[in-house]
Amino acid sequence: RAGLPVAEAPVGPIEVSFEFFPPKTEKMQENLWAAIKRLEPLNPKFVSCTYGAGGSTRERTHETLVDIRNKTNLEPAAHLTCVSATREEVDEVARRYWDAGIRHIVALRGDSPEGMGEKYVPHPGGYAYAADLVAGLKKVADFEISVAAYPEIHPEAQSAEADIDNLKRKLDAGATRAITQYFFNPEDFLRFRDRVAAAGITAPLVPGILPVTNFGTVCRFSAACGASVPEWMHKLFEGLDDDPTTRKLIAATVAIETARKLVSEGAREFHFYTLNRADLTYAICHVLGVRAQAAAEPAEPAPASA
Ligand code: FAD
Repeated sequence: RAGLPVAEAPVGPIEVSFEFFPPKTEKMQENLWAAIKRLEPLNPKFVSCTYGAGGSTRERTHETLVDIRNKTNLEPAAHLTCVSATREEVDEVARRYWDAGIRHIVALRGDSPEGMGEKYVPHPGGYAYAADLVAGLKKVADFEISVAAYPEIHPEAQSAEADIDNLKRKLDAGATRAITQYFFNPEDFLRFRDRVAAAGITAPLVPGILPVTNFGTVCRFSAACGASVPEWMHKLFEGLDDDPTTRKLIAATVAIETARKLVSEGAREFHFYTLNRADLTYAICHVLGVRAQAAAEPAEPAPASA
């Protein structure tokens, strides 16, 4: 199917998950909770909270997830990295999650403390790579574990094959789902999905969707994290640096077109990098036929000029 009319409901139910980051200030905390409350009625499969570089947000990530567990009906999933920490420290963080009733971990290696793109050196007493972390977590408790995958290949991978072998090792060690890095060309995901299937991997490969709120930031961030920003995106956002309203409409269109293309190619599960904002994610879900199961929180008020 080449296109999917907006009015046509996608075939089969679509499942979604939402990613947040731990807030630093009270204002950010309010924004996070407004986003959670708005998205909660969409009944996501789980919601996750990131772990700041090298564990820098350890306590805030923990608190956010415990709050989600205690104040909502959502299933919380804790991102956890193994960079710059001993095995014992990582195991202790995981054990605290288990004791707090959190059963799902997004297990990641993390990046060098010097910054993304710098050479990664495993901690001498730590888990060296995410596959080792997954195996270690399974020894701590019977967590559900999701891991990362890279449609455009992880920047440090020796080859595309080596990266897929690594994904396989993570799943063989006990992970049950791979969430992809964001991408903007749906074909990159579809080609990767074919290669993953050809490698005999049957676990769900969930496309990660990043609704673009700040194009400049996305460009700076993407180079180091294994995602490319295609020329057509530069053209779309050209001249809009001071026009957030138009940028937002375009961002929604780009993400909706990507998601609908993937649905037409059989995707039924999506992970949204929400950046703690609900509006674009909510709109994309709506188009995909993911509707509120109960009354949703009202949308953010429109600007006075709208
Ligand atoms: P790994 O799977 O360990 O792979 C890293 C690299 O090492 C790959 O190139 C792989 O091919 C290679 N490799 C693996 N094993 C070996 C080996 N034995 N020998 C040689 N090379 C090997 N970062 C955070 O800090 N906090 C977060 O909360 C966070 N959340 C994320 C969520 C998602 C969905 C994604 C896609 C990424 C996230 N990241 C996060 C970023 C992630 O930490 C980085 O992309 C990191 O560089 C790689 O993590 P990984 O788990 O994919 O690593």
